[in-house]
Amino acid sequence: MEIKKLGVVGAGTMGNGIALMAAQIGCDVIMRDIEDSFVERGIQNIDKFLTKSVEKGKIKADEKVAIVGRIKGTTEMSDLKDVDFVIEAVIEDLDLKKKVFKELDELCRPEIVIASNTSSMSITEIAAATKRPDKICGMHFFNPAPIMRLVEIIRGYATSDESVAVATDLAKKMGKVTVEVKKDSAGFIVNRIMTPHFIEAIKIVEEGIASVEDVDIAVKNGLNYPMGPFELMDLTGIDIAYFVTEYLYQELNKESKWVSPNLLKTMIRAGKLGRKTGGGWYDFDK
Ligand code: NAD
Repeated sequence: MEIKKLGVVGAGTMGNGIALMAAQIGCDVIMRDIEDSFVERGIQNIDKFLTKSVEKGKIKADEKVAIVGRIKGTTEMSDLKDVDFVIEAVIEDLDLKKKVFKELDELCRPEIVIASNTSSMSITEIAAATKRPDKICGMHFFNPAPIMRLVEIIRGYATSDESVAVATDLAKKMGKVTVEVKKDSAGFIVNRIMTPHFIEAIKIVEEGIASVEDVDIAVKNGLNYPMGPFELMDLTGIDIAYFVTEYLYQELNKESKWVSPNLLKTMIRAGKLGRKTGGGWYDFDK
């Protein structure tokens, strides 16, 4: 089925980026959040991003107008009733996600696929809140969604091949590289690989082996990564790195390799959370 109209639930960091990409490929988009001010903030972010694209000569001014014109913000879930595909991007709370999926399941046509942008939660458990578990999958975009190339397509226990194909096709139309996560397992691929990097980097600093800055210099120049682990945590949030580590510990048999380093907990307790607010790893050495 052709996806002409796409629903996005949540107009935050990820939701507005996803809505933008859907509109860029010609879909009409309904972007829903719970308050008008959140919807407006989402639309403003889209506008800001597209203004920069015009300034950089990547798109023309009239293309920007057309893209923005395809996105309708709303606080009414019922506005999503006739969409052809939904991507959920509400906050990372399992109970909330289950509630949203139940609501969408009752509202949307039974044949459409509903995907979650969760970065860690079980697709199988989210799907169990609906009567269409075969039509539920994960579509894990990375931040910032319009720029990062990867989308992990995640199968829940009951996800059909057809649903995986529909989600993969949509991501590819958005210009993304896709990978299939064949089993619903915590951290999927990227976060499962990235978290041990974070843990070891923090331990190296904790043990006094090298400074924050030198660990990042080593990783960027020795492994050719674009960012060091501390720069990346400062950008995406040190608290998020902590929550993901704790979640993987619980979900992956409480193996000792997933135990959060004490220094990571100390940073959280000290309110040093990164994201350019209140300090982060780069203040730690000073
Ligand atoms: P965010 O806090 O920026 O946005 C979430 C939005 O959901 C908020 O605007 C909130 O008001 C809205 N919301 C809450 N309940 C809602 C409801 N019932 N209906 C509609 N909207 C509702 O969060 P985010 O960073 O965009 O994350 C969204 C999802 O994407 C999470 O599952 C997160 O784990 C995942 N994710 C985040 C990142 C990232 O780096 N931020 C990367 C990949 C995946």
